[in-house]
Amino acid sequence: MNKKNVKDIDLKNKKVLVRVDFNVPLDENLNITSDKRIIAAVPTIEYLLEQNAAIILMSHLGRPKGEFVEKMSLKPVAKRLQEIFKDRKIIMADDCIGEKVESLAKNLKSGEILLLENLRFYKEEEKNDPFFAKKLASLGEIFVEDAFGAVHRAHASTEGITKYLPSIAGLLVEKELEYLGNSVNNPKRPFLAILGGAKVSDKINVIENLLKKVDSLIIGGAMAYTFLKAEGKNIGASRVEEDKIDLAKDLLKKAKDKGIKILLPLDHVCAKEFKEDAESFITDDCNITDSSLMALDIGPKTIEMYRNEILKSKTIVNNGPMGVFEFKKFATGTIEVSKALAEATRLGAITVVGGGDSASAVKKAGVDKLVSHVSTGGGASLEFLEGKALPGVVSLLDK
Ligand code: AMP
Repeated sequence: MNKKNVKDIDLKNKKVLVRVDFNVPLDENLNITSDKRIIAAVPTIEYLLEQNAAIILMSHLGRPKGEFVEKMSLKPVAKRLQEIFKDRKIIMADDCIGEKVESLAKNLKSGEILLLENLRFYKEEEKNDPFFAKKLASLGEIFVEDAFGAVHRAHASTEGITKYLPSIAGLLVEKELEYLGNSVNNPKRPFLAILGGAKVSDKINVIENLLKKVDSLIIGGAMAYTFLKAEGKNIGASRVEEDKIDLAKDLLKKAKDKGIKILLPLDHVCAKEFKEDAESFITDDCNITDSSLMALDIGPKTIEMYRNEILKSKTIVNNGPMGVFEFKKFATGTIEVSKALAEATRLGAITVVGGGDSASAVKKAGVDKLVSHVSTGGGASLEFLEGKALPGVVSLLDK
């Protein structure tokens, strides 16, 4: 990456302000149900501890909309951090700005960690208010951006703050950009993108951008049906975006003109109802002739075709599931594609999985450790694939 990271400047004994993504899921008793995001920040924290830095961590949690909301406090995160860094002093502030916080930050010693309270308890955070950003900046000497899940937003703690402090990337942001950046901008070929999920409209910009880069494109999930309809296929009662059919035709033509192969489902697993235990039917080919049937997953012939394409590729980016993978009966396509990604990785391909649904799909398939990289930022990775500049990244110091 062409942005400076924590290893590029001297952080010994410095007071370092780190934006992390501790937006963890909590149950009704405020127990953390997945600490994945906390664990993702550990390498940067550990590295800063090795440098004997005094560390100030800041994050948002949930959507408190600019007000103090007790159940969105970061206190459970402080508890988890103390369990992870047993022999370190973790101090939880009850605010993120103000005199008390300033005093805690001022007295923070090397090797100690101060966690600020939820940034979004102030509406100024999401408004990217310069005074709020300056107050945050006044707490440290250097700013480290490690909240990959938030870099696509220009908020006070992700972008505003970079105007007041020397700003560099943390190890998580560095790793994310390395994998996403190299796969999209410098891919080993053949380069395959696998897009799925609910809507074509959410992925238009991704498709447009990737058509400039990939050798082939697999489309699955509900969005495939708008494309199949654009090709004149019979899609029964499957989900479709009628107002995007012309666009889908354009995209198909564009791909053809550029010699990019687009793979659409050859067969489907269908049901009459959108239900976990609905009776399932497999079609013979890509047409769904029974108008009461909707496709909820890709069929076995499609899995075979997609798998072959995956195993032929050297760089693969996956964003979005192949079907309604939340329902066990309709999860096979997504799971098999995930497994094929793991197999391709074993054969030497670089495989990058982005988006919350795809990340949980590789986990469900038991291959989350067997692909090259699972992105921690759904929105951020999508915007990266769209070719957009990420405000929390462009504002960091260049190498
Ligand atoms: P997205 O948020 O755009 O990545 O879409 C993910 C959602 O798309 C998941 O909740 C899936 O259940 C849903 N989905 C995938 N395939 C289908 C399908 N064939 N019909 C309806 N929903 C689908």
